[in-house]
Parts: sequence; C-alpha cells; structure tokens
Amino acid sequence: MAEYQETREYMVRTQLIPRGINDPRVLDAMRRTPRHLFVDKSMREAAYADSALPIGEGQTISQPYMVAVMTELLELHGDEKVLEIGTGSGYQAAVLADLAREVFTIERIADLAARAEERFRELHYPTIRVRVGDGTLGWPEEAPFDGIIITAASPRVPEPLLSQLADNGILIIPVGSRYSQHLLKVRKTETGLTQEIHTPCVFVPLIGEHGWTPEG
Ligand code: SAM
Repeated sequence: MAEYQETREYMVRTQLIPRGINDPRVLDAMRRTPRHLFVDKSMREAAYADSALPIGEGQTISQPYMVAVMTELLELHGDEKVLEIGTGSGYQAAVLADLAREVFTIERIADLAARAEERFRELHYPTIRVRVGDGTLGWPEEAPFDGIIITAASPRVPEPLLSQLADNGILIIPVGSRYSQHLLKVRKTETGLTQEIHTPCVFVPLIGEHGWTPEG
C-alpha cells in the first residue's frame, strides 16, 4: 500500500516511538495499515493526524497512538484468536488482523458494521469476522479468546467478556466515568485475574447490558 506510506512512517516516528511504543511488530502493522481507507474520502488528508476523527453516527476512529498502545498491551505473537468490541471504522480490527490469526469484531450500529465489512472485503482481510449486536455479551460460540479489546469506555469490565477470556489471555478496556477513563489490562492467570492501570484516555461510551445505558 504505497499511497501515504511516507505519511505513515512519519506518524510512527513522531507519534508512536517517542511515546514509548516499541514492539516492532506493532510498529510495522501501523506502518502497513492504510488508515486513510477507513475514513470518509473527505477526511483522507487528516487520517494520519495525531487525533481521533469522526466516522458518522456520532462515533470516532481512535487516535493512532491509542490504537498502537492498546494493540501493544495485547502482547500478540501471531497465533491468537482476538475479540474486539466496537468495530467502528474497522481500522483497529485491521491492525489486529495483521498481528493475530483470527479477529472477531462486534459493532452495535448496523451501518458502521456494514461499511467496515465492505472495507475488509475490498482490502482483503479474510481473517476478520463481523457481527452486529451488544458486544458486552461477547461472542460465546467462538470463545475462548486469547485477547479481548474493548474500544469504547465502560464503567466496569463486562463479566461475560471475562468469562470468554482464555487461560493466560489478556483483556484491554478503557474503564472510568463517561468522560474520562484509564486503560485497564486484565490477565487471566492460573491463580486468578491480575490488573494493571495504564494510559489515561477518553472514549465514546460502551452502550449495552454490561456497559452504559444509552441515557448515561
Ligand atoms: N475500533 C474502532 C475503529 O478502529 O474505528 C473505533 C471504535 S469507536 C471509538 C467505539 C465503537 O464502539 C463505536 O462504533 C460504537 O458504536 C461501538 N459500541 C459502543 N457500544 C457497543 C456495544 N455494546 N457493542 C458493540 N459496539 C459498541
């Protein structure tokens, strides 16, 4: 994907490496994934800016740095089965597909899911599967997952997602209030769950049975 290649390299050098992203596989996936094809044509020139961008339906494609941080925290080596909640534009799922064996992604807004699915077809991402629904319930038929990433803000870790995490699996989620959160990394170990608090962040709300209500 030669188009915007230099812009992507610049994004990696100025936004990701200086802020501590250092997994070479993650940096390469960020160099390869054509973010400009996951936003509206009118916004292509802004696609590699250091910010989130609108994707319609009041939702956003996350800032490149946030995508890279969350991806790095998942510690992917290539053979994992990953679940993403919050497909949005499909960009995060595409980055994950470059680093893992299979990606399952759930979006509650049908129009966004349909557009993302079309992009995956056009850009040849055969290992990504999309479902429309409440992602706080997970995808039980496909569980367990080695990695689970929630790309919307939640008041807590949705219990069904914890139970669908494989042994030694890692779950990443922005947890906090509706307007300010921290990334939480949960690992399922032989002796129970461990938790680490990472980067501060601001995500759109996770709306569902185990997240926020649509009203707040
Ligand atoms: N990962 C996306 C990307 O790469 O473009 C960005 C995700 S956007 C910040 C959050 C998305 O989560 C929105 O598209 C929103 O509709 C979706 N969402 C919110 N609650 C959800 C739920 N319970 N299940 C599935 N998707 C949900």
